[in-house]
Amino acid sequence: MRTKDVLIIGAGAAGSTAAFHLAKAGNNVTLLEQHSKENLKPCGGGMAAAVQEWFPFDLMPVVDEVINRVDFTWCLSDLVIAPLPGSSPFWIVQREKLDSFITEQAINAGAELLRPFKVTNLQKHGNYWQVTSKDGQQLEAKAVVIADGSRSPWPEMFGLGPKKQHYAFTTSVRLEGRGNIEKGTTKFEFGLVHHGFAWAFPLAKGVNVGIGSFIGQQALNSDAVLDKLLPSLGFDAKEGNRKDSLLRVWNGHSPLNGDGIVVVGDAGSLCDPFLAEGLRPALMSGYEAANSLNYWLKGDNKNLNDYTNKIQREWGDSMAWGRRISQVFYRFPKVGYQLGIKRPTAPQRIAEILSGKLGYGDIATRVIRRLLFKRT
Ligand SMILES: Cc1cc2nc3c(=O)[nH]c(=O)nc-3n(C[C@H](O)[C@H](O)[C@H](O)COP(=O)(O)OP(=O)(O)OC[C@H]3O[C@@H](n4cnc5c(N)ncnc54)[C@H](O)[C@@H]3O)c2cc1C
Repeated sequence: MRTKDVLIIGAGAAGSTAAFHLAKAGNNVTLLEQHSKENLKPCGGGMAAAVQEWFPFDLMPVVDEVINRVDFTWCLSDLVIAPLPGSSPFWIVQREKLDSFITEQAINAGAELLRPFKVTNLQKHGNYWQVTSKDGQQLEAKAVVIADGSRSPWPEMFGLGPKKQHYAFTTSVRLEGRGNIEKGTTKFEFGLVHHGFAWAFPLAKGVNVGIGSFIGQQALNSDAVLDKLLPSLGFDAKEGNRKDSLLRVWNGHSPLNGDGIVVVGDAGSLCDPFLAEGLRPALMSGYEAANSLNYWLKGDNKNLNDYTNKIQREWGDSMAWGRRISQVFYRFPKVGYQLGIKRPTAPQRIAEILSGKLGYGDIATRVIRRLLFKRT
């Protein structure tokens, strides 16, 4: 068996990004994907244009829509409009296109893609990691990247990620046609969903509608929500195929690396626990994990701890506040909507959050300062 430098489990957003950067740096990389072809992914595809900073190639070919306006409602009324200025761009991509596009770039940079290859076993033998597929194929590498999403069994097995997972319950619907959604507009609805919100993100020839519930462990009553939401968007109440999924969200700082192993994206529970933003941390962690592995493989780093530390600083610190904000906001959403979204300065702040310019820590600091100022 030939030993590779790195095996990557999962060719989603996080895994393909890691594969690209590792291959570009000259490593011998193999990307393992369970599905033989790209399946429809339950994802709204909304992401800050700031993600471009992690790629030397242009992502515009997979951007379906550039968003310049966000509409917020409470029970489909009480509209708040947040214009997104050109300086704070927010993009909608079709997820399948994004993942395939980055995977193609990784292959062009020298990575190998094996699909279908469903990893059913992962073990360390001496200094090497060994993976086994469902049909018994075995591969071996100096390092492994766990990028197989929210259902990944490996983090728990190797002491990575949070000790206790926290899940958001989601339902997604992909609709054909645009309904009444205007060009460049996305919609967020907060009053209809228990402990969460619904969104409508336009694609080139359709709309992604989703519902997410962020606290508590009860399943969503999504049919009742969609019965009201879809007609308000110009669709029939029963239109589209529905898909329920569990999404691992951030649940405290935790180790994201071990000896020759890193976990990225949803597998590492990096998704934002307030707005379900998972693409940015998936791409960021794929990029940072590859950087850290590059140094480690060359012998310039003794371990991969700098990866965990960087993600904690650049993402986790903000998510710690996001989690607190989520727990308060979704317990008292009506108050949250009035005080958070209807504030005169809110549209500007929302634009900054969506574009990745502002973290939840900045928001929390402003609120605390405001409270202190009011008291004195
Ligand atoms: C309904 C919904 C809407 C969302 N909307 C948004 C949004 O608008 N914006 C946003 O930023 N985030 C959104 N998210 C979150 C975002 O989709 C995820 O955070 C993102 O997909 C994480 O990417 P990933 O690469 O870590 O995992 P995934 O995209 O799940 O990729 C994992 C890959 O691993 C493969 N795999 C799994 N098991 C194995 C195995 N054993 N062997 C080999 N391969 C395997 C899978 O087939 C898959 O290709 C949404 C999530 C949901 C559920």
